[in-house]
Amino acid sequence: MKKIQMVDLQTQYEFIKDNVDNSVLEVMKNGTFINGPSVSEFQSNLESYLNVKHVIPCANGTDALQIALMSLELKPGDEIITSDFTFAATVEVIALLRLTPVLVDVDLDTFNIDCNKVVQAITSKTKAIIPVHLFGQVANMEKLMSIAKTHNLFLIEDNAQGIGSTYEFSNNTKVKSGAIGDIGTTSFFPSKNLGCFGDGGAIFTNNDDLAHTIRGIVNHGMYKRYHHDVVGVNSRLDSIQAAVLNTKLPLLDFYNERRKQTSLFYSKRFESNQYLITPIVKGNCQSHVFHQYTLRVINGMRDALADYLSALKIPFGIYYPIPLHRQKAYVDIRNNESDFKISNLMSEQVISLPMHSELEENQIDFICDKINKFFKDQDN
Ligand SMILES: *Cc1c(COP(=O)(O)O)cnc(C)c1O
Repeated sequence: MKKIQMVDLQTQYEFIKDNVDNSVLEVMKNGTFINGPSVSEFQSNLESYLNVKHVIPCANGTDALQIALMSLELKPGDEIITSDFTFAATVEVIALLRLTPVLVDVDLDTFNIDCNKVVQAITSKTKAIIPVHLFGQVANMEKLMSIAKTHNLFLIEDNAQGIGSTYEFSNNTKVKSGAIGDIGTTSFFPSKNLGCFGDGGAIFTNNDDLAHTIRGIVNHGMYKRYHHDVVGVNSRLDSIQAAVLNTKLPLLDFYNERRKQTSLFYSKRFESNQYLITPIVKGNCQSHVFHQYTLRVINGMRDALADYLSALKIPFGIYYPIPLHRQKAYVDIRNNESDFKISNLMSEQVISLPMHSELEENQIDFICDKINKFFKDQDN
């Protein structure tokens, strides 16, 4: 059996080597390292794929979130609601811009932001909601869109883990994640579902005015050369990364399908394991692209399972071991532990197994056999 890895970027590269090598070499031969033709090509390729009017490439997924917030003309102290159970980037940019992060608990089944708690958290200072499509499953966008509309709030989708998933509204309209709210953001970090060979990110919107504002912000606040109208940043996707992404974007649906098949394979094997809750997919089966395959261990043995997997050299991840409200940087006196029952519980129960498009059946079998054996041994 091949060595099991959490993600296997070497094997993925072997499959696409000729195409990627050629497109990267092209950039080197042309010497167009910044804002070269590969970048504008990728921009329009991704606009078509997502069926969104504007894609603005940038340097990484964290910048994408920061720039999205910068484009909304908010004031210090304005409140931004986001999930307590996510990667720190989401809350970090809120705090950096001197806005006030308001963390809310998540839904037990999906790990995504709890829409009822979102409503309870809204005040006169609330300006935006940032749902995160955690582990690849789209948040309840129908509800969130309606909340945002009622309370006149911006909706920014953190789609770093969800790219390629499709949300179906109750009127059967289907929209790609990231293209639903006012702004969507993503990351092309190498291990994401659509990863480049370094850092990269992008911002999406269907709003022409926001797109115009954002294009200036990513380029030092310039709308006319050497005229700086607003305080901007330097955030670019470089041409080599864009060249890599141009060869990988046509494979994204295939990669996501492989992930889905792997998730089904795992869940089938854990079907009769009473100590594990396998991922629950809400809505249509296109709404989850399994950035992570995350189990809940419900008999208090998550850490023991983690030790056992470490001993067997089976990789795993704990996403996330500490909810954001308990992180030193984001502790807020207004937070009550009783408001975060689910995120606290999730940080004790979750464990993510190897998940990538190159995982082989015998590897998944091996992982499942060992995990089922671990729990059987507890019973005896
Ligand atoms: C990866 C990730 C980010 C940040 O992306 P970078 O490209 O690493 O800056 C933001 N939000 C979520 C939910 C992520 O998973």
